Amino acid sequence: MTNRINGQWRLKSRPIGLVTENDFEYVETNLPDISEGEVLVRNIYLAFEPAMRGWLNDVKSYVPPVKIGEVMRASTVGQVIESNNPEFQPGQYVTGMMGWQEYFIDNGTPGAMGRSLNKVPEGVAPELMLSALGGTGLTAYFGMLDIGQPQKGDVVVVSGAAGATGSVAGQIAKIKGAAKVVGIAGGSEKCNWLTEELDFDAAIDYKAENVFDRLTEECPDGINIFFDNVGGQILDDALLNMAMNGRIVLCGGISSYNETELPPGPKNYMQLVIRRCTMQGFILIDYFHRATEAVAELADWVANGELKHAEDIQQGIENTPKTFLRLFEGKNKGKQLLRIAEPPF
Ligand code: NAP
Repeated sequence: MTNRINGQWRLKSRPIGLVTENDFEYVETNLPDISEGEVLVRNIYLAFEPAMRGWLNDVKSYVPPVKIGEVMRASTVGQVIESNNPEFQPGQYVTGMMGWQEYFIDNGTPGAMGRSLNKVPEGVAPELMLSALGGTGLTAYFGMLDIGQPQKGDVVVVSGAAGATGSVAGQIAKIKGAAKVVGIAGGSEKCNWLTEELDFDAAIDYKAENVFDRLTEECPDGINIFFDNVGGQILDDALLNMAMNGRIVLCGGISSYNETELPPGPKNYMQLVIRRCTMQGFILIDYFHRATEAVAELADWVANGELKHAEDIQQGIENTPKTFLRLFEGKNKGKQLLRIAEPPF
């Protein structure tokens, strides 16, 4: 037995309505020695996704719910500090679903979300593997390209546009030749960031402006692609502004993730019929087999400056649940991360 202590955040109770810090508890355990074939990783960055809220509900979904008492599931990046596995050397950065904890011992068993550990390529900033080159970057990539299928000259609208997925999705549409990309986000600071730094053509502050009126103004000939991260009223407003043969990419619906009573479905859905639109959902895990091709293209765009990325990095493992809540308070700009250690090597 090593004398290392592993700080962990475990699920204490299933949240009802808005998730709170009290739904989790901090526990310290002794870390066992690693066995033959195993690797010990020190987590450095934890990544946060709104979908994690859904994993706390005891309902059938695309992954099993996190169990009460279980370490909270999360993607992370860390550094190998001990290895009894020739594939991994101490100092190597790795990503995986290593959870809200300081250390992770990999026994090589793939979990609910696929392969347990993936190496961070040489020369790539580790935190990038959780943002533009990680799950949210890949979600933007496949959602926009496979489902949205942008054409030159398209008018594209993205909700949740200043978040990790939305900010990348809008930029990809631009790279692919969209004539106009409009972002919807909360607050003037986020909206200014979209237009001034990320090259969006316009931004709508849904907290201060009438989204329907502003969409009509910005997209007088209709929206060809609506990439939706939010659902609810914003989806309804977009439905009434779609162009003929438009595509709605259903990526997420954060506006209802913390609701105890689900709101009624979109009242304007008959616009799909009238305007011959498609509305299609997708889940990233179905694209994992194509991750290499996507990461390569995203990395090229980052390297040549076409794709800007942003990470909102909080500090300290004690702030883990608090950092998760930032997503629902709209405090994050770009990818929400938490740094819990300095790299040991
Ligand atoms: P994110 O956009 O970085 O963070 C969440 C953002 O949502 C917040 O910053 C906030 O921005 C906005 N928000 C929070 N509550 C809201 C509300 N009630 N109404 C409107 N906006 C609200 O998170 P992300 O990880 O990139 O995820 C974005 C969406 O993609 C989520 O819906 C998520 O579930 C989905 N997703 C889907 C897949 C998939 O496989 N389909 C994979 C990953 C993520 P504002 O300040 O603008 O309100």
